[in-house]
Amino acid sequence: MAPLEWALLILITFFSFVFVLLMGPSRRFRDGPIGKLYRFLTHDASVTFRTHARRLLGTGNYEYLARIYDWVLFGRNPLAQTLYLTLLTIGVVIFLMYGWPEVPGPYVHWFNVYTIPPTILFTYAAFARACFSDPGVIDETNVQKACEVYDYDHLIFHPKDCATCKIQKPARSKHCSLCGSCIAKHDHHCIWVNNCVGQKNHKYFLLFLFATIFIAFYATVVIVLIFLGKIHEQGLHNFHYTNQAGRTYKVPMYKVFIYMLHKNVLLGSLAILAVLTGMIVLFFTLGHVLTILNGITTNEGLKWEDIDGLIRQGRLIRNKPKDDPLARQAIIVDKVDPTNADQSDPVQSLEELENIYDRGVWGNLMDLLFPQPI
Ligand SMILES: [Zn+2]
Ligand SMILES: [Zn+2]
Repeated sequence: MAPLEWALLILITFFSFVFVLLMGPSRRFRDGPIGKLYRFLTHDASVTFRTHARRLLGTGNYEYLARIYDWVLFGRNPLAQTLYLTLLTIGVVIFLMYGWPEVPGPYVHWFNVYTIPPTILFTYAAFARACFSDPGVIDETNVQKACEVYDYDHLIFHPKDCATCKIQKPARSKHCSLCGSCIAKHDHHCIWVNNCVGQKNHKYFLLFLFATIFIAFYATVVIVLIFLGKIHEQGLHNFHYTNQAGRTYKVPMYKVFIYMLHKNVLLGSLAILAVLTGMIVLFFTLGHVLTILNGITTNEGLKWEDIDGLIRQGRLIRNKPKDDPLARQAIIVDKVDPTNADQSDPVQSLEELENIYDRGVWGNLMDLLFPQPI
């Protein structure tokens, strides 16, 4: 295979792998082949690997390898973070070596000379901000204040203490086992920034996503325009060939582009990497923004899925309101044993329940951009 085909194969394999790891646990995919592949990669393959490794390596070596394996897959490690930084830097270096000398060009406007460097610097800055910002770690000093931000909905958040931190768990918070602390308005732990995403840094995480999408599509457009310039300079857009029967054909544009990719393998691979990255991150970001506008964190989204499952099984039952002044919902819902005949009045659908954290699109956006300080 030619270098270009190899590059394409590696890129597609890599992105398929990332897609399976990202989307495997989601409700949409978890019952299908992507969910099965996810479970195989994260569980079955691990079990098989462990069984064979112990037999082959002996217990001592196996324990050592198993620790590395667990650290790579389940520990707080900078591997994905380093991968992002490496890919970004390789992309920037390739562009500076082979793309930058063509700016400005026949199709690349001069203003790009002034917009490309800030775009690169901004992407690094947004990444660093997302990596090193405080997501909203809760400790004894701020737990009281953190508890005042959101009320308990008595549905997915109940007043209780964190078993590890031994302090009260504010509504919407979650203990992150990787970071080792409770995080206010916990969204998720992101391996790409090796940090939790929570109340205090959610906006910086979004900025990082937008910066990545922007630089990816911007790089793609500039490289395509550079190629177009080269094509016109070399007259390839008017290139004709004559077949054996003596008929003359104009070479189609897509073939000219494939030729350009072969002639500029590194810059071409960068464009393909950039457009694939841009599309995957855009896909993820659209879903993420939608949950934000609905007043739901990623963590709460998973809990709502559990609630939905309980409703379908008829296991979500209304109880009489208990003596809790914080209970804003007219009902308090408990997960109960369906065989208990004493319980009645099951919740029929999600519409009967209220997400008390949903402040409307504008309110949710303001809550994200200007969170209440803790
Ligand atoms: Zn905790
Ligand atoms: Zn975390």
